[in-house]
Amino acid sequence: MSSPSKLIDGRAIAKKVRAEVKEKTEALKAKIGTTPHLAVVLASDDPASGVYVRAKGKAADKVGIRSTQHTLPADTSKEALLELVQKLNDDDDVDGILVQLPLPKHHVEQEVIRTISPEKDVDGLHPINSGKLSRGDESGLIPCTPKGCIRLLEEVDTTISGAHTVVIGRSRLVGRPMADLLLNRSATVTVCHSRTKSLPDELSRADIVVAAVGRPDFVKGSWLRFGCTVIDVGINRLDDGSLTGDVAFHAAYERARAITPVPRGVGPMTIACLLENTLLAAERRRK
Ligand code: NAP
Repeated sequence: MSSPSKLIDGRAIAKKVRAEVKEKTEALKAKIGTTPHLAVVLASDDPASGVYVRAKGKAADKVGIRSTQHTLPADTSKEALLELVQKLNDDDDVDGILVQLPLPKHHVEQEVIRTISPEKDVDGLHPINSGKLSRGDESGLIPCTPKGCIRLLEEVDTTISGAHTVVIGRSRLVGRPMADLLLNRSATVTVCHSRTKSLPDELSRADIVVAAVGRPDFVKGSWLRFGCTVIDVGINRLDDGSLTGDVAFHAAYERARAITPVPRGVGPMTIACLLENTLLAAERRRK
């Protein structure tokens, strides 16, 4: 019989992270008289992006982090967007800058990311931050979703050192930094992607599986090793409007030692880690 404690409660763990951030934000305010400031840039008319931006602003306000939203029309020129990012870089009052992705096609995403000052890059995507991470140096800002996944693993006492881990997905946002973080913690890391020859074989050896594919119920329960820990990063909206992950949850649940649900798994951790990064950026800049 499976135990309900197998479920990794991302919502509860994110609440704990947010409480830590709130306490440290208050301490920072008491010390320097000002609160961290997160600037969120929205330059697309994608409704989901608008929802995410508002959710981030609201979450920031709740922990005492000031947030400002900078909305540009979707047809804004690349130059105008870069100019806004530069203005926020130069504004000493701004601690963290987040440009909501994806950007409309005519923008060169990487150029925008490269323009953000690395010490304000709370998404952790600037080449300086990702370069440091891939060299085993975690002193930069770390991408929020993989950072949140590591915290989830730690919170449920998963041994990472020496574990055989399989990360499915090699995006800059999730898969690659996730692999770096696991490697930095001495895991043996296999990164799988669309050209991987036999994913079930790779997964059959995995103590820890991180799925970041973007395909509903893609990872079958029968592919998993008994007793593994599963972190499902995927957020897929089905035709009926409900959300599901990249892992076929029920069958995986039967085999796993611990597993994140979707929703209420990795999602809440991403926002909590964004707040953590904003606080960190403020502490470092204002020390
Ligand atoms: P992405 O950039 O589209 O990357 C998807 C990865 O999956 C790619 O590396 C791709 O391989 C790989 N892939 C595709 N088909 C595959 C297959 N048949 N077998 C093995 N690998 C395959 O997506 P992403 O930004 O990393 O996001 C992944 C998922 O996580 C999405 O559902 C997204 O919504 C979700 N997400 C959730 C959060 C959160 O807060 N929970 C945050 C970010 C993203 P190739 O490189 O070979 O194409």
